Amino acid sequence: MNGWPDASSLLGLTFVVTFIGVAGWEAWRPSRGSVAPLTVRWFGNITLFGLGSLAIWLLPFLSSYGAAVIAARQGWGLLHLAFVAPPVALAASFVMLDLSTYWSHRLMHKIPLLWRLHALHHSDSDLDVTTTIRHHPAEVLVQAGFDAALAVLFGFTPQAVLLYGGVVLVVQTFHHGNVILPSRLRWLSRWLITPDLHRLHHSMAYAENNSNFGNLVPLWDRLFATLRRNPEGEFKVGLAEFSGANSQRFDQLLIQPLVVAPVPRKL
Ligand SMILES: [Zn+2]
Repeated sequence: MNGWPDASSLLGLTFVVTFIGVAGWEAWRPSRGSVAPLTVRWFGNITLFGLGSLAIWLLPFLSSYGAAVIAARQGWGLLHLAFVAPPVALAASFVMLDLSTYWSHRLMHKIPLLWRLHALHHSDSDLDVTTTIRHHPAEVLVQAGFDAALAVLFGFTPQAVLLYGGVVLVVQTFHHGNVILPSRLRWLSRWLITPDLHRLHHSMAYAENNSNFGNLVPLWDRLFATLRRNPEGEFKVGLAEFSGANSQRFDQLLIQPLVVAPVPRKL
């Protein structure tokens, strides 16, 4: 619309290019050795991504972009009703999208039913580029419904949703990577969620995986006191209850929401 490229093609291309780049970087200089066989993990993670993408393809209105297009056409949402100037609406939408993603992620950890769905992202025994896309299809649908509701409520502009989607896809793929950032680039973690920061969110220690919820910038974690820069002890990736040899098998991943233990955690 309005001369903008087709959203799904552009996001797809952005993701494929970033994925191949980070996968190549991991193969060249990995940060950690593998725990589970790569083929088993990659098959499971990529197949889950296929199922989640299929669910959204079948229900296109259940996405931030689809809902934002409908809201813009109908004039729904705070930013449309307030007749905010387009550049301001674009900037405000972008910031609010990142803030809402931070809080939806915190709720995924806080509410036991949502944790059942989100835990699959954390039960990966290794952390690499495919962990980015490791989400249970049920979580994908719940997250998409939440994002769509916010897009209609606030009237996020479709351009902002597309821009945010592209930027966050690149940064998420980068910060899940099993890569070592050169020491001269470590300063980046003051302004951007880097692999060093995000790996703590995948720690087996609950205090650590209840930190660093941000997707793009560490600003929200700093503001809401959930930022953590270093592990307290030995650093291990995953969830203790899913460290068994068969836990990364695709069939086990699919049923995991039914068997995961809801753990009481502090918000
Ligand atoms: Zn999480």
